[in-house]
Amino acid sequence: MQVPGPFEYERASSVDHAIQLMDRLGGTARLVAGGHSLLPMMKLRLANFDYLIDINELHDELGYITVGTGEVRIGALTRHRELLESDALAAVFPIFRDAERVIADPVVRNRGTLGGSLCQADPSEDLSAVCTTLAASCVIRGPAGTRTVDMHEFHRGPYETAVADGEMLLEIVIPVRPRGGSAYAKVERRAGDWAVTSAGAAVWLAEDGTIADARVGLAAVGPNTTGIPAISAALRGREPSEAVYAEAAALAAENCEPVTDQRGSADYKRHLAGELTRRTLRTSVERIRG
Ligand SMILES: Cc1cc2nc3c(=O)[nH]c(=O)nc-3n(C[C@H](O)[C@H](O)[C@H](O)COP(=O)(O)OP(=O)(O)OC[C@H]3O[C@@H](n4cnc5c(N)ncnc54)[C@H](O)[C@@H]3O)c2cc1C
Repeated sequence: MQVPGPFEYERASSVDHAIQLMDRLGGTARLVAGGHSLLPMMKLRLANFDYLIDINELHDELGYITVGTGEVRIGALTRHRELLESDALAAVFPIFRDAERVIADPVVRNRGTLGGSLCQADPSEDLSAVCTTLAASCVIRGPAGTRTVDMHEFHRGPYETAVADGEMLLEIVIPVRPRGGSAYAKVERRAGDWAVTSAGAAVWLAEDGTIADARVGLAAVGPNTTGIPAISAALRGREPSEAVYAEAAALAAENCEPVTDQRGSADYKRHLAGELTRRTLRTSVERIRG
């Protein structure tokens, strides 16, 4: 079935207007941003809603990338293409450009948004892995006000987030720390496909060159994108080296929960989780030194 069920359509003119509409319409309504996840699901009748509230006119309000000294703020309606093309963002967090280069194709990237990607909460979704790696906070607004949750709280399970009916994701906020580097790598069956497995890494070095902190986020190897605190604990205070990256790779492979499906066997994905962790950690450190 390639035709969605009947629905009413409303175009929101401001964030407050969108929240008022959702508050009034409750669980029968859904926001539509780029529509690249929601509409295929409605066409396949995997999801049915009585109302769609189009938030594309809020791009002036919610489509921004603000790079400050202490933090980066990215609006929920920022499109994949804007994340790919932002030199300011790539200078601070090259992981975004790495990831965007391997997300879908130009048609999807021209419309698909950061907010839609995170709120879809697909376990294979690349920007969720990026945001997990960078310890992003998610700013959510609803009729009762604004609240902030971290990525760990944001994802509640496959296709399920902390954004309740009547609420919307406004922006993500990422802390910027000195001497940081980051990278993303993905194995896919063909260009533009969803990940077989992907990994993001971010490293911050102390002034003496040891690892002050390191974070790894994996996609497609668990019910949600997976952060691995054991890697951060193991790497802090260590000198970056191939032996340290290999240790982190082993922890990544141990600490994920892949399943066998049409994209590959669980063993293969576990192997990729380790290998991509090793490579992205290495690239992150090279980027700081380079
Ligand atoms: C052919 C194809 C290939 C793809 N390949 C990849 C890939 O390789 N990697 C990858 O990561 N993704 C991939 N995608 C997914 C794509 O990146 C996402 O569909 C898209 O970015 C989701 O964003 P959207 O704006 O289209 O969301 P929508 O489809 O508009 O919305 C998705 C969900 O999020 C909700 N939502 C949207 N914005 C908000 C908000 N601000 N607050 C609260 N809820 C909100 C909607 O109500 C809906 O439930 C692919 C998609 C297609 C069609």
